[in-house]
Amino acid sequence: MMQAKGGVSNLTILGSTGSIGTSTLDVVARHPQKYKVRALTAYRQDELLFEQCLRFKPGYAVMLDEAAAARLSSRIKAAGLDVEVLCGEQYLEQVAALPEVDAVMAAIVGAAGLRPSLAAARAGKKILLANKEALVMAGRIFMDAVRKNGATLLPIDSEHNAIFQALPRDYAGNMAASGVSKILLTASGGPFRDMPVSALQQVTPEQACAHPNWVMGRKISVDSASMMNKGLEVIEAHWLFNAAADDIQVVVHPQSVIHSMVQYVDGSVLAQMGNPDMRTPIAYGLAYPERIAAGVEPLDLFKVGQLDFVAPDFERFPCLALAYQALRTGGTAPAVLNAANEVAVEAFLNRKISFLDIPRLIADVLNAHSGEAVNTLEDVLMADKHARVAAQKWMLQ
Ligand code: NAD
Ligand code: MG
Repeated sequence: MMQAKGGVSNLTILGSTGSIGTSTLDVVARHPQKYKVRALTAYRQDELLFEQCLRFKPGYAVMLDEAAAARLSSRIKAAGLDVEVLCGEQYLEQVAALPEVDAVMAAIVGAAGLRPSLAAARAGKKILLANKEALVMAGRIFMDAVRKNGATLLPIDSEHNAIFQALPRDYAGNMAASGVSKILLTASGGPFRDMPVSALQQVTPEQACAHPNWVMGRKISVDSASMMNKGLEVIEAHWLFNAAADDIQVVVHPQSVIHSMVQYVDGSVLAQMGNPDMRTPIAYGLAYPERIAAGVEPLDLFKVGQLDFVAPDFERFPCLALAYQALRTGGTAPAVLNAANEVAVEAFLNRKISFLDIPRLIADVLNAHSGEAVNTLEDVLMADKHARVAAQKWMLQ
C-alpha cells in the first residue's frame, strides 16, 4: 500500500488531538503537496478537532463523546465545511480501513487503540504505530494481521523507530541471521531517576507529568515516571523485532539524545540520535523509505557535550521488572499487565492511590493471573476486562 514516489498519500490520524496527533499534523502541514488528511478522530476535544477540520479539511471526523460530536457537527455546518461527523467506536475502525486511505497514524492512547489499529492492519494499510498498548496486549494477533494482509508496520515510538533505522533494511525478524546480538533500548529514567526512594510515596500527578526531556500525554508521562513505559516498550520491541526478553537490554541514558541502539556480533553498535522531538520518528514513518523535513532543531553535539549511560534500577522501578515478568510468562499476561497499569495510572492521576501503589496494584493483579494462551482477539479482551475488575477490587481493599 505504498504511495508512488511523488504521489499524494491519504492519511487517517487516530487520536489527532493528542500529543502525537498534533505533532503528526505539524509535519503534515509542512508538506501539503505530499499528504492529504482523509479522517481525524478524537475522544471529546471538539474545539481542537474543529480547528483541525478547518485547517486540514478531512472527509471524516470521528468523536467518541456524543455531546462533543453534536457541538462539532453544528460548528462544521455553520462553517460550511464538507466534513462528515461520526460518533461511536465502530467508526474508528471504519476510518482506519477506508479504501482511499494509504496510511494510518495509530495515536490513540491505551487499550482503546487496539481495535482501530488492528482494523488498519487487516485492511493492509501502512500503519504508523504510536499506540504501543495495542502491541503489548495483542502482539501475536497484531503481527499476524500485518503479515497476512500485507500491511506495512512502521514504529513511531522513538526507541523502536531508532532500532528500525539501525537494523538492516531487509531485517525479517531473525536477529541471528542479520548478525544482531542485542537490542539496547534507551530510557531517560524519567523525572524520579535521582529522587530519594523515600520521597516517591508523596509525589503528585503534576510532578510525575513533568518529564525532563519530552512533552507527552498524561498517561505515558506517568508511565515514564514509573518506568512502566520502558517495560511496555520491551514488550513492544519483542513483537516488532522478534527479540527474546534476554536480548533486550534497557540502558538508562538521561540526555535522551540516543534514541536506542542495535549491537551486532562483530562488535558494532549502531545508534540513532537526534533532539528529543517526536516529529523525527513521525516524519520518518510518513515518508518511509524517503526522508522529509520535520521542523526539528538540528542536534548540536557541542551543546549536548556529554552522553551518560547507567544500568536500570529495578528496585526503584519495580514496574520494569513486572513487564519483563509478563513478557516471560507470555500469553495473556502482558494484556493483564497493561490493563492493571491503565487502571492504576488513572487512579493515581485522580489522586485515589499513591505513586508507589501503582506497582503494588499491578504486581498483585499480575501474580493472581495464570497467563492463558492467546488464540483470538476475544482471549485478549477477556483478559483485559478481568484484569480491570481485579484492579478495581484491589483499590477497595
Ligand atoms: P494523548 O493523551 O496526548 O492523546 C490521546 C489521543 O487519543 C487524543 O486524541 C484522544 O482524544 C484520543 N483518545 C483518548 N482516549 C480515547 C478513547 N477511549 N477512544 C478513542 N480515542 C481516545 O496521548 P499521546 O501522548 O499522544 O500518546 C498516544 C499514544 O502514543 C500512546 O499509546 C503513547 O504510549 C504513544 N506514544 C506517545 C509518545 C509521545 O511523545 N506523546 C511517544 C511514544 C509513544
Ligand atoms: Mg518511547
